[in-house]
Amino acid sequence: MPGFADRLNGIGISASAAMTDKASELRAEGLRIISLSSGEPDFPTPVHAVDAAIAAARAGDTKYPPQAGKPALKKAIQAKFQRENHLDYALDEILVANGAKQIIYDAMMATINPGDEVVLPTPYWISYADIARLGGASIVQVPCPASNNFRLSATDLNAAITPATKWLVLNFPSNPTGACCPRKDMEEIAAVLLKHPHVWILTDDIYEHLVYDDFQFCTLAEVEPRLKDRVLTVNGVSKAYAMTGWRVGFCGGPRDLIAAMNNMQGQSTSGINTLAQAAALAALEGPQDFLKDRAAEYQARRDLVVSLLNAIPGVQCHTPQGAFYVYPDISACMGKTSAGGRRIENDTDFVMALLEEQQVASVQGAAYGMSPFFRISYATDTATLREGCRRIAEFVTGLK
Ligand code: PMP
Repeated sequence: MPGFADRLNGIGISASAAMTDKASELRAEGLRIISLSSGEPDFPTPVHAVDAAIAAARAGDTKYPPQAGKPALKKAIQAKFQRENHLDYALDEILVANGAKQIIYDAMMATINPGDEVVLPTPYWISYADIARLGGASIVQVPCPASNNFRLSATDLNAAITPATKWLVLNFPSNPTGACCPRKDMEEIAAVLLKHPHVWILTDDIYEHLVYDDFQFCTLAEVEPRLKDRVLTVNGVSKAYAMTGWRVGFCGGPRDLIAAMNNMQGQSTSGINTLAQAAALAALEGPQDFLKDRAAEYQARRDLVVSLLNAIPGVQCHTPQGAFYVYPDISACMGKTSAGGRRIENDTDFVMALLEEQQVASVQGAAYGMSPFFRISYATDTATLREGCRRIAEFVTGLK
């Protein structure tokens, strides 16, 4: 058979997508699967966004779009950055892509050369590592331990930066831990970054609106304007507006970087589906009040899940202030054997046995670079969350 590219070595389907696929397979066999693996809001897309897409289709908005995004949408993004982040980006400092994921892909592919390093506060969203490796970079992990609420220490960050560092990726609120970065920590991180002018910084703010307990979100370029010419501020409509399937992400950043990323995009997608752009525009310009209501709903779910998990001897769950994930510590479960006779040596064994014996889908910490933990998404209804936690409790108490 003709061969494949070396750059794909070691790159596979993401663990959460693999788990979601496996859960669907078991569901098709008739099993009642409780799916806590997928990072996707269970709310519907706002009706005004759907209507805008339908209206755009009927109005004939069906031709090739401008590659970097339609001017009206870029203006709405510009206004969003001003309104919510106090950041001024010119229109040629803004790019629209097929999801925040493509923004990250464009950014890395447009900048990474073999031998470069990408610094990832760990645990990290798996795609940062795989995209960086596709570009030929190696990954440098900075552990953000549970004992520090999975926050990034500025001292640890400073120690991880070398002359080969090309990017630092910040993602607070975090997938997979839900950890947030208070302004004071962000200021300390910024002070470190000012000392390393050769480093680009990507801040993935996709969970910006999902913060709890009155946590005040902040983003790096706003906290330290002197870094703005090295920061790519990434966001999108997927999580806040429950629009994962529409595939619209965006960013603000320095003009030259945006131009290079636009070049990447031009040779891959030629721009973003026009109807999805119309929907994203309506979401950004439409009512925003429901974001707070949804955050309150997620906060109630978080409280439920954290208390149910912490009631299980052998599971230790922190209380995150953002996103819709918890990342419980299961070190007390290692080395044991499940009721079904499976030996649990690591968190992958744990989530596989949990799926097979209790039909609960979650994701192993190994996928995010920190073990032994597992990730649960609580972006689902409370009845499902209660039943999921009941099954997890049965599984864990059955370990001998
Ligand atoms: N960043 C993070 C941290 C995410 O969790 C996700 C979705 N799982 C994305 C980016 C991708 O978002 P989008 O749907 O806009 O590609």
